[in-house]
Amino acid sequence: MSLSEFGLIERYFRHCGVAREDVRVGVGDDAAVLECPPGQHLVAAMDTLVDGVHFPHGAPPDSIGYRALAVNLSDLAAMGARAAWALLALTLPEADEGWLSQFAAGFAKLARLHNLALVGGDTTRGPLCVTVQVLGHVSGSAMLRSGGRPGDALFVSGTPGDAAAGLALEQGRWPESGGTQYLRERFLFPTPRMELGERLREYASACIDVSDGLLGDAGKLAAASGCGAEIVYADLPLSEPLVRVAGAERAHELALTGGDDYELCFSVGPGQLAQLLAQMPPERWGYRRIGSLRQAPGIDLVRDGAAVRLPPSGYDHFAGTGR
Ligand SMILES: [Mg+2]
Repeated sequence: MSLSEFGLIERYFRHCGVAREDVRVGVGDDAAVLECPPGQHLVAAMDTLVDGVHFPHGAPPDSIGYRALAVNLSDLAAMGARAAWALLALTLPEADEGWLSQFAAGFAKLARLHNLALVGGDTTRGPLCVTVQVLGHVSGSAMLRSGGRPGDALFVSGTPGDAAAGLALEQGRWPESGGTQYLRERFLFPTPRMELGERLREYASACIDVSDGLLGDAGKLAAASGCGAEIVYADLPLSEPLVRVAGAERAHELALTGGDDYELCFSVGPGQLAQLLAQMPPERWGYRRIGSLRQAPGIDLVRDGAAVRLPPSGYDHFAGTGR
């Protein structure tokens, strides 16, 4: 990119996010210099969003900026980490000032909400593509996918399926009706469950964020834990707009297999369960029990008292953007 384009980008990204005292050197030098709190572990995650693959071509620029950060923060939430810093690699077909200012505003909105500093990055010319790396820290041990045991209760936060419905609406695959704006926003501006993740570290045996669909991600948690799982169809938390727009059957399907929700799926052992429910009431923290881990591998969906084995290949049929 030309010098003037770099100047433009510098204008939008130099102060995108908060100023943090632990940033010794931020945007503007060859690399950032960051101070990790003593005794804590550094936690790092990186994700790329490609135009037309991870968001529809022509998506609102503020949503692209927001989501690029949100999907990364969600990975830190799943580890129980607190976010601190981010790096941004931006490939743009052109330095469009209007687009950049909206993109930066979307990114900055979420960065400020989580006290995050943008400390560096890179810009190149090419087809639109956004890569964000987030760095954070955790004191003690991070939550892993692998800590679950047979008999642990399985939970999910939020109302999965909403984002997949929102994407279908954004792409014009579904007709508009009342309540669709809520669903669209669940796709365009997902909420990374940072506070929930950080608090769950005290109770959860394992955790994963739901990016690829609840069944698939619960399956990954169970497999990493050397377990299988049972999920109870009737216990899936569904939003009222999703059921109204999609109908009950399709809403359940989307809750199980739709992508892009960025909720947390986690397991809690019998020794921590009562304490979790007392200290973090589900209705206040927005999560619900959907089943249990069990010894036998694979995932069974329990519907009307009958268990149906779900093959991993069945996960993808209704996938959203397939992160
Ligand atoms: Mg993840």
